[in-house]
Amino acid sequence: MQLLAATRNKHKLAELRAILGTPWEILGFDAAPGMPEVVEDEPTFVGNAIKKAVRAASFTQGRMLTMADDSGLEVLSLDLAPGVLSARYAGEPSNDQRNNEKLLREMAGLADAERVARFSCVIAIAGASFALAQAARKADVAFTLRDPFIVAVCSGVCAGRIIREPRGTNGFGYDPLFVPENYDQTYAELPDAEKNKISHRARALGKVKELLSALRTA
Ligand code: IMP
Repeated sequence: MQLLAATRNKHKLAELRAILGTPWEILGFDAAPGMPEVVEDEPTFVGNAIKKAVRAASFTQGRMLTMADDSGLEVLSLDLAPGVLSARYAGEPSNDQRNNEKLLREMAGLADAERVARFSCVIAIAGASFALAQAARKADVAFTLRDPFIVAVCSGVCAGRIIREPRGTNGFGYDPLFVPENYDQTYAELPDAEKNKISHRARALGKVKELLSALRTA
């Protein structure tokens, strides 16, 4: 069974293939030449993920199930910033080091108790068949109608805190500054396999997996 992932990011494709496994064949943008780039200008992760999944579904004229994600970091004391601007918090082009420096500057005066944060990941799956809505109900996943498509929305969150200096070299983005709840190490100090058990993305993908197995038996 085929699923078109609306991404050009090879790392994300490999992760999707590893987590979802057979019988799903995950295709990337290479399989859909001419697919237009979508501007991520919605105010929420959910809005951006739905927009991208629906554009991809329209492009395939509803012939394929499509999937798109949006994710980022939210800091409670910064009114949930950087949020949907996570990738370009310090401006364009996206630069992890400058984003991390800006985050530390913005949080400079904050006490430990005010450094609570969370990573969120939203994955939207769009398709033309009503079976997707039935599967979403069965898997306890929210869904919405974006005529003529059904869109199921899976999300995952990882709560934690932002430390005062970067630590660790694994991963990307804000990983060196984020310590997940019940851990002492940052995301960037944890081995990939450990981060992939608890991360916001792993949790959202766990829901996607449940949705897709419900779809196979719908
Ligand atoms: P996107 O959803 O891939 O566009 O990610 C948006 C941005 O959120 C990234 O550029 C990172 O700055 C941040 N981000 C998302 N997930 C992670 C993560 O697992 N670790 C660190 N930063 C992340």
